[in-house]
Amino acid sequence: MPQRQSYSSVALEQAARPLLQLVQHLTGLDTTFLTRIDWKALTQQVVLVEGQHGVPLQEGSVVNWSDSMCRLLFDTQRSQSDAVPVLFPGSSGAALGMQSFFAIPVLSEGKTLGTLCGASTEAVLITEHTLSSLKLIADALAYQMALDQQMQLQQRKVKVAEKTIDKLYLQAQQMENLAHTDELTGLDNRRAFQTKFEQYQLHSEVQGTALALMMIDIDEFKQLNDQYGHETGDLALQQLGTVLAAVARQSDIACRLGGDEFVLAAADTTAEGLLHLAHRVQQQFKQQMQQSGLESSLSIGIASSVESPLDQLLQRADQALYKAKELGRDRVEIAG
Ligand code: GH3
Ligand code: MG
Repeated sequence: MPQRQSYSSVALEQAARPLLQLVQHLTGLDTTFLTRIDWKALTQQVVLVEGQHGVPLQEGSVVNWSDSMCRLLFDTQRSQSDAVPVLFPGSSGAALGMQSFFAIPVLSEGKTLGTLCGASTEAVLITEHTLSSLKLIADALAYQMALDQQMQLQQRKVKVAEKTIDKLYLQAQQMENLAHTDELTGLDNRRAFQTKFEQYQLHSEVQGTALALMMIDIDEFKQLNDQYGHETGDLALQQLGTVLAAVARQSDIACRLGGDEFVLAAADTTAEGLLHLAHRVQQQFKQQMQQSGLESSLSIGIASSVESPLDQLLQRADQALYKAKELGRDRVEIAG
């Protein structure tokens, strides 16, 4: 079954339905309804309908104000008519089979928010006394409709505020990510490495577990840049980033320190443990580059807390890397 669409808030509906039933009772009209007027769009919407035995009005239906039965009636300075087909031939009311129709403006602070209406296929004339009662009911409805409008406005504002907060949160997250991520490779940047590595050093010191790292540098990278252009150089850096991200375990820190210098740090690991991994990194990088039609290699220096003081691991790995370069590049050296 299709879900019934609601054109009013629950609060408005709960307040207005009994009042529309009361109007039915007071007037003897078989259909009573409440409308809302949009003065900007110049349209009128049927918000709630009670009865519907004779006049088939649909909740949610919208008419242009120029075609509105209420407007036609108000233009004749009347509140009601028991001869709709005669007085308004060709009108929407006549087309719906209305014989009688009444409309009372729902006013709040001098503004017409909508109308309280009733219609019948029978000829019904409402007494002046009843019309005064209907005006009181219209006042009560005006209060509810004004509240409803305010509530909807507040809800829209809350939604906008929520969206803005979501956007700001996302931006903050993106900025946070950018602050810790190397843009070209997607690996951690030097700042993120420093923060994480300090924690790893602390963990290693407290737990007494080994901590090892390898420093990786592309051989003759400057020449690659000079020969094939900066974009090809960037591609090589990205490929090395991909290789490191693929071989790194969840608990490893893979980082581009800057330029063509990268680091991979691993907790609970010794230099021997990293040696195997270093050779895999060299091999995979070479293969990737070959697939792009390029010849390139890596030099790697390894240091671990077994042989070196914790706070000198980076320097010692850097020294081992320097040695690997000196000994002809494309090789792995372990700091002694
Ligand atoms: P070595 O074997 O001794 O390491 O020689 P090398 O040519 O690799 O020397 P070095 O490591 O000093 O060269 C680093 C080069 O990296 C110099 C610089 O122009 C280039 N470079 C630094 N950052 C980037 C980058 O983001 N993109 C590109 N394409 N090149 C970069
Ligand atoms: Mg280099």
